[in-house]
This record gives sequence, C-alpha cells and structure tokens, in this order.
Amino acid sequence: MHQLLNLTSLPFSSIPIIIAGPCSAETQQQTIETSKQLKANGVKLFRAGLWKPRTLPSAFEGVGRIGLKWLQQVKQETGMLVATEVANREHVELCIDAGIDIFWIGARTTTNPFAVQEIADALAGHDDKIVFVKNPVNPDVDLWIGALQRINNAGVTKLGAILRGFGTEGKHIYRNMPEWHVAIELHRRIPELPILCDPSHMGGKRKYIPTLSQQALDMGFDGLFIETHCEPENALSDSEQQITPNDLATLIKSLIVRRMMLPDKTLDALRRQIDECDNSLIEILNKRMNISRQIGIFKKENNVQVVQTNRFDEILKLRINQAHEMGMSRDFMKRVMTAIHQESVRQQIDIMNNNQNT
Ligand code: PEP
Ligand code: MN
Repeated sequence: MHQLLNLTSLPFSSIPIIIAGPCSAETQQQTIETSKQLKANGVKLFRAGLWKPRTLPSAFEGVGRIGLKWLQQVKQETGMLVATEVANREHVELCIDAGIDIFWIGARTTTNPFAVQEIADALAGHDDKIVFVKNPVNPDVDLWIGALQRINNAGVTKLGAILRGFGTEGKHIYRNMPEWHVAIELHRRIPELPILCDPSHMGGKRKYIPTLSQQALDMGFDGLFIETHCEPENALSDSEQQITPNDLATLIKSLIVRRMMLPDKTLDALRRQIDECDNSLIEILNKRMNISRQIGIFKKENNVQVVQTNRFDEILKLRINQAHEMGMSRDFMKRVMTAIHQESVRQQIDIMNNNQNT
C-alpha cells in the first residue's frame, strides 16, 4: 500500500496511552494542583489548553502565554510530559521556546488547511516534538489525513490522531457524534498511526465518559485523552465534561484493555456501527417528532383535526415501496411506519391537550 505517513513510534510506555488534564489552564494553583493529583494517580502525560477556540466570543478564551510558565512548573515538579493546543505559528513558537513536549491541533483548526500548514511550517526542524491531530469538525477522513501529512512533511514523525467526534445541528445524545467508522477508516488507511479517543469532547457530559472510553478500547484505540480538573464544577470551560483525577483513576482501573488492533470489518467493528446506527435512528426519530409537535401546534391554532388518514395512507404507501426497493419487507416497513405514526399522533394530541413537555 502507498505509504501515507513516515512515522516513528510514540515514546510512551503505558497501554492505553492516557493524556489527562484540564480543558483550560485557569490559574497556577488549579494547574499545579490538578497535575499533582494526576501524578499521584499514575498519569504521566498532562494536557491543558492555553488558547481556547470557543464557539462564542463571550466564553473563556484561555489565559494565553502566561500559562506556559505553569506548564513548565508541572514538568519540573511532576516529571510529566506536557501538552497544549496550538492553532497558529505564534503558539507553536512560544511552546517550542517554553519546552512544551506535546502539541495538539484542535478540531476547528484541522478543518482549515491554511492554519495547519502554518503550524507545520513553524514546526519544521523540531522533529523531537510529538503532535496529535484531532479530527476535523466534519467527518472527512481525507481532510484529517491531509492535516497529518502537512505536519509529517515538516519532519514531525511522532504523530497521533484523536477522535473527538463530529458536530451536527440539533439536539443529540452526545455533544459530538462519535462516527467511529471515520477513525476505523483512518486506521485502515494508515494502520501504524496511533489513534486516541477524546470521550470528554465526544460525550460532552461526565456520565458518558466511561462507556465511550470502553467502546474506544474495545475497538482497539491506543489511548484516551480525558479532561480532568481538580474542581470540575468550577471549571471556566467545559465544566460538565470534566472529571476529578480520582474519578479518572477509578475509570482507568475499571477499563478492560483488549490488546488487539482496530478491526476493519470484524464483528466488533460491525457491532459498533450498529450502535451508531441505533443512536442515529433515535435522533432522527426525535427530529421527526419535533416536526410533528410543530404540526400539532399549527393544527391547534388553526383548529384542524389531528388525524388525517389520507395523508397517512399516502406516506405509508410511499415508504413501503421505498423500503421494498432497498430489500426490506413490506410488512416490516408497515409496522415501523404505523408505530411512528401512532407516536406522532400521541405527541400531537398531547399538544392539543396543552401538555407540550411530554
Ligand atoms: C480541547 O481539547 O480542549 C478542545 C478544544 O478540543 P476540540 O478541538 O476537540 O474541540
Ligand atoms: Mn475542552
């Protein structure tokens, strides 16, 4: 196969690789305290964002270069390797001067080849640095590989990727949809590239971290990138998805590490895809119910009756034929559509009865 990247292995001994630390370095005290607690729990790789790419300009955008001193202190006092996010030439240069060991490129930056090229140019000649490239915001494996190639072409061979999920509109279970198959495709195309999972940004909530972490390990991911804060509830950014160093230690102990490669089309990979399809099904059903609820409001305001059988007959016929053409049985699709219709009617009747929250 065509060699897409020239890689050397990452100088980490732990399996799985665990990189942990706060979303943002906020104060010297919070940074040092978190690192000490992590160190006490056996973590060797520390992350903390200094320049935070935030959706809204009103959000906390990081402490910037002042935090480099805190990361240097973490390195000195704990012996951990330190990682931070870089998004432009200036960040890279400041981090190189400060002796930062590991750089990561955030999802928003990976999406922009100009920014990635600027980072790559600034890294040229610094082949001792370790760089992780997060997936782009959209599920485009070529764009992800392109970013990895730009960094690799600059001479960086200690490279890894991080799956943090993909943004979509609307309300979802997870903050970013895992789309595991994108990482599986990346692995298929570049089998020797280490891939970590970031269950914090993927899940968006603490409670999802254990399941997502185990799923990632089950699929053979090489490690986890987990936001950890000494006081998660007081965090200035991503408070809901951070866990304490003690909770991280409990999580790591509970994880089952199956030492196998990311399967391409093995049973596990296929089962994960089924899980993903089920999540998407639930979301798409919810989207459909939301529209039904809007129709319910319209009907209520205009005094139109809820059930209009002609319309349902039309939909039913159409869907049954569509499904049949795709190889599903007519009877199956009839049962699915009837169940969906019943729930839509229930939702609309609920609205008629003024109970819009069910
Ligand atoms: C982060 O890791 O702090 C971060 C901003 O992540 P992402 O690029 O995945 O949003
Ligand atoms: Mn974060």
